[in-house]
Amino acid sequence: MPKIGAHMSIAGGVSRALDRGEELGLDTIQIFTKNANQWTGRPISDEEQDRFKRRKEETGIDPVIAHDSYLINLASPDREMFQRSLDAFEDELLRCHCLEVPWLVMHPGAHLKTGEARAIVQIGKAIKVALLEQNETEVGVLLETTAGQGTQIGYRFEHLRDIMREIDLPERVGVCLDTCHIFAAGYDIRSREAYERTMDEFDKIVGLEYLQVIHVNDSKRELGSHVDRHEHIGRGQIGEEAFSFFLNDARLWDLPFILETPKTAPDTQVPMDTVNVELLRKMLR
Ligand code: ZN
Ligand code: MN
Ligand code: MN
Repeated sequence: MPKIGAHMSIAGGVSRALDRGEELGLDTIQIFTKNANQWTGRPISDEEQDRFKRRKEETGIDPVIAHDSYLINLASPDREMFQRSLDAFEDELLRCHCLEVPWLVMHPGAHLKTGEARAIVQIGKAIKVALLEQNETEVGVLLETTAGQGTQIGYRFEHLRDIMREIDLPERVGVCLDTCHIFAAGYDIRSREAYERTMDEFDKIVGLEYLQVIHVNDSKRELGSHVDRHEHIGRGQIGEEAFSFFLNDARLWDLPFILETPKTAPDTQVPMDTVNVELLRKMLR
């Protein structure tokens, strides 16, 4: 059975995300290992690393997945920005290593109107450098499918395949599939047939064996909109049924399913993680 969880806040320390996950009864969580809107974070103290590992054991929450900072752009054509991104990315890998987090999810990058082909090669080379420089850790990188908003790379499965070929370290690279993003990118999943077609295409181009994490989000915007706006499960343009195709696909049963939906209902302060988690659990046959 797939493990179901959500992205959890690390306010008060990284280990607090596990406390919050336990309170909600989650099987798995995703975290930022530092403030996602800043370039650098305080090193994680030994005490905090110990508390994190102890709470992980106690709560049974497994795996814990990390997501990198939104500022990082390994496709940047600006030398200084690129170097800053690469340094920050390597630091993210080290932070994961300290916490024994197996995978770092990342957005491939935005080419900023300098062309997709060049960007894809640059991203691949950069990730390779980071992984080779941080070779005392086994932390791996998950390329996330994107909606293709602005000049983002990653809205075609071919982009991810080409980046992975460039990295050429298959054991340390995988893919995170975001349901909202692929739908906004134009991959339909709303009917059984559409779901099978999309997954077949993913398998042919990337390979299902590289799929490590599913981000389960409905989409505020329509198919092919290229707009990245997450919605509560069943309340967006994707609709409830698509999520039951994913959850009941035996090929995906070992994977963590992680919600990145809004934390509260619109106009009210009603917490929504529990509602979304319960809905997903009910769909499991
Ligand atoms: Zn993401
Ligand atoms: Mn995502
Ligand atoms: Mn998104």
